[in-house]
Amino acid sequence: MKISEILKKRNEGVSFEYFPPRTEQGKKSFLETIEALKVYNPLYVSMTCGAGGSGAWDRTEGAVDLLLEKTKWVVMPHVTCMGIRREEVKGLLDRYQEKGIENLMVLRGDPPRDGTPFDPSIREFRYAVDLVSFVKEYGHFCMGVAVYPEGHLETGSLKEDLEHAKAKIDRGADFAITQMFFDNTYYYRMLDRMKKEGITIPVLPGILPLADVAKVKQFASICRATIPKEIEEKMERLKANPAEMEKAGLDFTIRQCRDLLKNGIRRVHFYTLNKFQVTKTVLDAIL
Ligand code: FAD
Repeated sequence: MKISEILKKRNEGVSFEYFPPRTEQGKKSFLETIEALKVYNPLYVSMTCGAGGSGAWDRTEGAVDLLLEKTKWVVMPHVTCMGIRREEVKGLLDRYQEKGIENLMVLRGDPPRDGTPFDPSIREFRYAVDLVSFVKEYGHFCMGVAVYPEGHLETGSLKEDLEHAKAKIDRGADFAITQMFFDNTYYYRMLDRMKKEGITIPVLPGILPLADVAKVKQFASICRATIPKEIEEKMERLKANPAEMEKAGLDFTIRQCRDLLKNGIRRVHFYTLNKFQVTKTVLDAIL
């Protein structure tokens, strides 16, 4: 089923984002996470994809196959296009269509940092909007795109960022998911800016449970997400006691989600990092 249809029917619920496991232990943790989160009946689940093409795509496709085998969930693979040729993308879309996939998260991606072979001189798709147009022309797929409450790292201003987001929507994106944020004000302000521009598609907040301050700080710095000083300092103070640090962080995420619910945001996308326990702790507190 297309996510655009699901979002019309269900105005509350959660979605989960996973990444393709690389090791046997990683696969075990991924499978446990799938099982543990079944009880929340997600709107859909998504599977990230590294940049660079075939190697990364193979891992994503393999993990998508596992999800299709183990669940009845609506599965949305991410597709990145930086350094990729049109022909390759067409092949991937053909394969996903054959598997019965109806939804794609359409992204530009970033150059890989893990040594995956990558040819930056291939610029057939410069921005995600180019892939949105390509997928639209291909037909069949419902599309999600990324948006950035605090602005994308490479963009000069929030105004410019919104123009680029709007271009993706005007070319055919059906819904959007935000980059992680920890201060809801950024998200609410972005929704206001979008409303003023006449953007009406659903924009789901992307929430990363704040369980380990060092890891989250690392993510947040590469994707421009401000961690409120007060919680960062509190978690830093508790670093020697990881259980206490995690409790403080998850209490913060629970308050963040409750604030979203209080403000009428009833659909939330969780970055699970393939670990169920922290997501479960947050969900059990808010649902
Ligand atoms: P774009 O929309 O192309 O934007 C990239 C930059 O270019 C922005 O600064 C934008 O403002 C600018 N821009 C856009 N159009 C133009 C134009 N015409 N002229 C000038 N500038 C322009 N990465 C992965 O590698 N794999 C994943 O699975 C993945 N999943 C993600 C899921 C979510 C929900 C989010 C929010 C991000 C995800 N990312 C993923 C990260 C994403 O790939 C990076 O943030 C990347 O840097 C930008 O991707 P994009 O699709 O937003 O690109």
